[in-house]
Amino acid sequence: MRYRSTRGELTAHSPNFSDILLAGLADDGGLYMPEFWPQISPQTLRDWRRLSYPDLAAEVISLFTAGSIDLATLRTMTHDAYKHFDHAAVAPLSEVEQDLYALELFHGPTLAFKDMAMQMLGRLFDHVLTERNQNVTIVGATSGDTGSAAIEACRGRERLSVVILHPKGRTSEVQRRQMTSVLDDNILNIAVDGDFDTCQDIVKAMFADKAFRDDVSLSAVNSINWARIAAQIPYYIRAALALGAPDREVSFSVPTGNFGNVLAAWAAKQMGLPIKRLCIGSNRNDILTRFLVDNDMSVRKVEPSLSPSMDIQVSSNFERLLFELLDQDPVRCATIMKDFRQTGRMAVPQDAWMRMKESFDGMTLSDEQTSAAMRKFYAESLYLADPHSTIGLAVGKEFKEPGIPMVAAATAHPAKFPDAVKAATGLDPKLPPHLADLFEREERFDSLGNELATIQQAVRDHMKRK
Ligand SMILES: *Cc1c(COP(=O)(O)O)cnc(C)c1O
Repeated sequence: MRYRSTRGELTAHSPNFSDILLAGLADDGGLYMPEFWPQISPQTLRDWRRLSYPDLAAEVISLFTAGSIDLATLRTMTHDAYKHFDHAAVAPLSEVEQDLYALELFHGPTLAFKDMAMQMLGRLFDHVLTERNQNVTIVGATSGDTGSAAIEACRGRERLSVVILHPKGRTSEVQRRQMTSVLDDNILNIAVDGDFDTCQDIVKAMFADKAFRDDVSLSAVNSINWARIAAQIPYYIRAALALGAPDREVSFSVPTGNFGNVLAAWAAKQMGLPIKRLCIGSNRNDILTRFLVDNDMSVRKVEPSLSPSMDIQVSSNFERLLFELLDQDPVRCATIMKDFRQTGRMAVPQDAWMRMKESFDGMTLSDEQTSAAMRKFYAESLYLADPHSTIGLAVGKEFKEPGIPMVAAATAHPAKFPDAVKAATGLDPKLPPHLADLFEREERFDSLGNELATIQQAVRDHMKRK
């Protein structure tokens, strides 16, 4: 399997899975896509019903690693990656009401769905770097969930030096402590004076500095990395199989920010999973639902909400879907994306937009509607959901059709957002046992202001710590 950029052609030198794992973004600024969609026959899907989650995940991911990582190696990794999840099914389905299910993706170490892919990503990096005898420095900015998932996945892996920038005083205490209480010496947390955008700008400036990039072998684990999308496809397949696929259709509802999670569901559909509808849930930062309803993809200011992991205006993974909607035309895709960058408004051709509407629905919930829905799901079904998962459930309930199971991605544990849960329901969600002492743990982070040069020096020193 080879990969091409959404802004370039497939050539004799196109990279394989291991190459794009380390590269992240393509050199032309585009996102990597597989050269074709692997097809899974109905009979294979039926055979996969009896596989455990790790075995199924290895089968699915192997379709994208052909020629670089074999199935047996992947199986070792998936068994290792998911063995610390605190539910035997890894990603269990819970029936909330008739035909409406929660697919719980928050049973990993940091209580958010990012663990599902990140736990695999850490192991994939380790494997490829060992094979190539290389080391890299992973730098990332986080508003909360991504940073802790990356740190948990990479801790103790000596070929990986990890530096995570978070906005000082602006993450929740649970989120900060999940990052700063990891004391392994390959992890460096930096508190930056500013907001998430300040952190993000510093990371972008580091990637734009070629000398620096080469000096520290810079790499990234953000959600544009194709390996993360690949590792998110198995749970959609598994949920659909549990509900009768391939002999029955299933729909999904996904609370969406960067469009990575729902893109994995869409990929599963391209691979042969019978998915009827894909529903996108937004908070007040509703660029995607405005687009679906009115073909209006125009950037506005990011506003804080009860579901901070979806407080995003530019959904970076949307470029992948756009590329497909444009019949994989890299020239048109590059032009539209460059104009979007300049004007803040994406001019998607009418026919491409209509094709998106053939598979997708979208809906926005305000904070008030989110709290009310959380209260209602708890009162009527005794199902306690965090604000992100609540949006997924509420949107799924809106679009569900009789006789077709609607599966909502539950993307965070309620204890990760205790204030919002308490305000809506009066309940105090408890952290699971492995995090029960989180508030007593020692923390370590450096407060380094917001000067690029200072932070670059800290990254260099961290990389050369040995
Ligand atoms: C990251 C995240 C999302 C959004 O997922 P995308 O792949 O960015 O669309 C939703 N909920 C939670 C809890 C998250 O951490």
